[in-house]
Amino acid sequence: MAKKLITVVGARPQFIKAAVVSRALQNGNFFEEMIVHTGQHYDHNMSQIFFSEMEIPSPAYNLGIQETLHGAMTGKMMAGLEEIFLQKKPALVMVYGDTNSTLAAALAAVKLHIPVAHVEAGLRSFNRDMPEEINRILTDKVSRFLFCPTEIAISHLQEEGFNTTFHTMENTGDVMLDAANYYFQKSSERAIEKYLKRDKKFILATIHRPENVFTVEKMHDIIFALNTLHKDIEVICPMHPGTKKLVDKYGFDIDFEVIQPVGYFDMLQLIHHSSLVITDSGGLQKEAYFFKKYCITLREETEWVELVENGFSFLSGSDKEKIIPMARIFLSKAFPVSFALYGDGHAGEKIARTLLAM
Ligand code: UDP
Repeated sequence: MAKKLITVVGARPQFIKAAVVSRALQNGNFFEEMIVHTGQHYDHNMSQIFFSEMEIPSPAYNLGIQETLHGAMTGKMMAGLEEIFLQKKPALVMVYGDTNSTLAAALAAVKLHIPVAHVEAGLRSFNRDMPEEINRILTDKVSRFLFCPTEIAISHLQEEGFNTTFHTMENTGDVMLDAANYYFQKSSERAIEKYLKRDKKFILATIHRPENVFTVEKMHDIIFALNTLHKDIEVICPMHPGTKKLVDKYGFDIDFEVIQPVGYFDMLQLIHHSSLVITDSGGLQKEAYFFKKYCITLREETEWVELVENGFSFLSGSDKEKIIPMARIFLSKAFPVSFALYGDGHAGEKIARTLLAM
């Protein structure tokens, strides 16, 4: 009989990660997967477009939870998910990454004695002011299966005293690499022409982390840096709706190209054709590397330390005095020969194989 799994997603990067595992789970009819969407991201181009492009099974439930306060959001999600888990009695709950949806699902499941599998386990920024860091630590603590993207992630868990009596820990490589490889083949190069205003050379930028967007001075400095760079080379920024709201509220003057968030296929093409990536996104830092682009990371620290240690990514924070000169250095430098930092692109299959044996 097929094993019944419930996958809980809520935010854009989770749709991408779940798409990979979902595809692997569909092989062989060993699993019956049901997707539950918490509703955290709800705009068409932050949610629906990913389900249709990436052929992710439609969510059986959408809880429609769009609270802004963390406690209210997490609590409402837990209550909604608990009802579904009680009714559907899954053999396992799958969670991804580090959002409130991840934590809510993990807690609701474990309290009902349902085992939890955490994909992207063991990541640490060591910055406990980040809501994502709290979500990661707590989710790892209660998960039975810890699917780690790197050996460093495994070592974090070992240092925190995780052992194999209760947890299954595995370095599967990063599901985002599987996603980039697979979906890039399906995307169309021509799609990006609509985004180019001036020329074919451009910097791709995204900003959405709370520590940047909720601090006016930081946003001011990042925008100043991007406006300055845009004088020489076009800067294209698919802007997160949360960032857009704050930019409008504070009335920042933006000279560079702000576009609506794009679907994953167009995003992969934009990364591939860009000359440099500037971002505070977790996923995009690695995708820049997958496509052999340097990345300026608009943060003080990162979970993806191997990118920084190997010189593929530079941590600038919001400091315009670092962003501008570093962008110019990266733009004039060839990307070095790289090596496999994130596995072999078969993380999804490895996860499915381990779950099959449970
Ligand atoms: N992304 C996308 N369209 C956009 C911006 C980002 O498809 O307009 C993709 C990006 O390529 C990456 C993922 O969304 O795969 C990252 O999501 P986000 O930056 O929201 O979250 P984080 O990775 O920081 O958790």
